[in-house]
Amino acid sequence: MRYLSTRGRVGGLSFEDAVLMGLADDGGLLLPESIPVIPEKTLHDWAQLSYSDLAFNILSLYADDIPPETLHALITRAYAGFDHPEITPVVQRDDLYILELFHGPTLAFKDLALQFLGNLFEYLTEKNGSRMNILGATSGDTGSAAICGVRGRKNINIFILHPNGRVSPVQRMQMTTVPDANVFNVAVEGTFDTCQSIVKELFEDLEFKERFSLASINSINWARLAAQIVYYFYAWGRVWKATGREDATFAVPTGNFGDVFAGLLARRMGLPVRPLIIATNENNILTRFVCAGDYSTGQVVETIAPSMDIQVASNFERYLYLLYGQDAQRTRGAMETFKKTHALGFSAEEQRLVAKDFSSHSVSQPEITATIRDFHQKTGYLLDPHTAVGVAAGLKLRNDDSPLICLSTAHPAKFAKAVHNAVGFDPPRPAQLAGIEDRPERYTVMRADSQAVKALMVEKLQSL
Ligand SMILES: *Cc1c(COP(=O)(O)O)cnc(C)c1O
Repeated sequence: MRYLSTRGRVGGLSFEDAVLMGLADDGGLLLPESIPVIPEKTLHDWAQLSYSDLAFNILSLYADDIPPETLHALITRAYAGFDHPEITPVVQRDDLYILELFHGPTLAFKDLALQFLGNLFEYLTEKNGSRMNILGATSGDTGSAAICGVRGRKNINIFILHPNGRVSPVQRMQMTTVPDANVFNVAVEGTFDTCQSIVKELFEDLEFKERFSLASINSINWARLAAQIVYYFYAWGRVWKATGREDATFAVPTGNFGDVFAGLLARRMGLPVRPLIIATNENNILTRFVCAGDYSTGQVVETIAPSMDIQVASNFERYLYLLYGQDAQRTRGAMETFKKTHALGFSAEEQRLVAKDFSSHSVSQPEITATIRDFHQKTGYLLDPHTAVGVAAGLKLRNDDSPLICLSTAHPAKFAKAVHNAVGFDPPRPAQLAGIEDRPERYTVMRADSQAVKALMVEKLQSL
């Protein structure tokens, strides 16, 4: 499998090259040249596999330059630390299926991709005798999952930017209490979009990127998306075996468009599911895009689902490229326009194509709280606020009786305050969070300035 950039000036990369490049050197995002289509019979065979074996079958299509035994070992190691034997169990509550993606070490779905990526990075640095400095931005959950994926690993350092004061206390402590010397946290005075644009700017500084072997853990990294395709197949197989129905509908809480884009890829690979439901909070740029052909940024609103408080969805460009019929020149032009005007419009014909892939609903904060409360009253099950966004949108938009699978992207204990406000008690705390308040925190607060962040990185790396 070869990879190319959505902006057309990078191509012919192997999987390893694509993983190490992160953001394409022409400013675009990397995609496989073609998307493999899985025969129906194989889908049914795959429904019998364990999570790790399924992951191996799917990832070997994309990572065909890694020796099979190595890939298998990387996958096994990635998921060994999950606290559920099924890795991503599907539970039925009421008439919904909930795909629990929070059984990893940091209790959010980001672990599914970042535990794999951490092991992959270690393999690549060992194999190439190289070093690597990871730079990433987080709206809360990516940071801890990425740190957890590489803490203490040789020849790898990690710098994570989070928006100061805009992540939940548990999310912050999951990053800042990690004692390993290769971990650096920066709290930026700004929003997640500010953090993301600083990271993007530093990756576009090709001299800096090369000199310090910068690597990306954000969902601009293709390996993350590839790993996330797996649980769509897994959940579909479980629900098919339970109900005999093939036509499931997925509802996906969305911020950066990474998770739901992985779902779209699963669908293009032949998974026979309905258009995906893009669930957004009050930061609803993607809902406006799907429902009105209006992709224009507004002010970021702080909500009780902070991991989705995003206006500029970094993976959107990948979809744009597909929507434009893989026209890289047009994609490049559109992204240049968007950078200047912060808005893109779409024709009626394009909106018709979008409606074949997605539907979307934006969920207000009172609706999130009511959903957590009602679902708990009805079923005894506690939803985290992000999952509640997905459930609310799923219930609103399901328009037939196909099984509805809602992706549960975080454990409720990560967002105890919002859950408490809805149900009147704190969610039970899993072992992963025991004693976290008692550990010392380490982080640097900085103004939103990419050059200042660059200077800090240089200083820290030179003093190692
Ligand atoms: C990151 C995150 C999301 C959004 O995922 P995207 O891939 O950015 O769309 C949703 N919920 C939680 C809990 C998250 O951490």
